[in-house]
Amino acid sequence: MLLIHCPYCEEERPELEFRHAGEAHVARSPDIAAISDEDFEKFFFIRSNPKGIVFERWRHVHGCGRFFNAARNTVTDRFLTTYRAGETKPEISVAETGPAAWANREPAELNEKTAAGAKE
Ligand SMILES: [Zn+2]
Repeated sequence: MLLIHCPYCEEERPELEFRHAGEAHVARSPDIAAISDEDFEKFFFIRSNPKGIVFERWRHVHGCGRFFNAARNTVTDRFLTTYRAGETKPEISVAETGPAAWANREPAELNEKTAAGAKE
């Protein structure tokens, strides 16, 4: 069973308690009515959908009910870290994201690792 760490409950919980809520860090224009149809299409429909690291919104629907963000590797389906909504997107280097590099690490350890990687 896949366990997901909720950054608000501070617990690892079964994935059945969570719901995916789309790509994270998609900036909405402050005046959405003024943007062009093409820009609205990009904002509303176009997503990056990369193979590898994605930043996603998740909701702990059968727990605290709150939205948070997560970095997940789409190849391994492993969550690299989770963080509260509104927090800065963590820096995650591609070299450290292989299955062996992230297996069995605690979220706090991953945050330390990403913070250290950001300084380099
Ligand atoms: Zn929660």
